[in-house]
Amino acid sequence: MDDFRKARWYAVRPAGNRKPATYRCPLCGDLLPALSDHVLVLPDGDPSRRRHAHTNCVVSARRAGRLPLREDVEPRRPGPLARLLRRK
Ligand SMILES: [Zn+2]
Repeated sequence: MDDFRKARWYAVRPAGNRKPATYRCPLCGDLLPALSDHVLVLPDGDPSRRRHAHTNCVVSARRAGRLPLREDVEPRRPGPLARLLRRK
């Protein structure tokens, strides 16, 4: 759980798997049945560190200013057209 906190930013994905497992939400520490409403949170976007979290916990954390997303932390890179036009 400590490792989960060590990230500059997080990616949030819809939870896709439907296997009957029970996870522990890294945000509230409570149990999370896989079939309940939840999302995947990837510290630094790393899939190997993904955690299943309650959707409500993610929404609350975002509202509280925690759980920064990549676009909150890193300036948006110019799109392909901007890069193309800049090249001499
Ligand atoms: Zn939770």
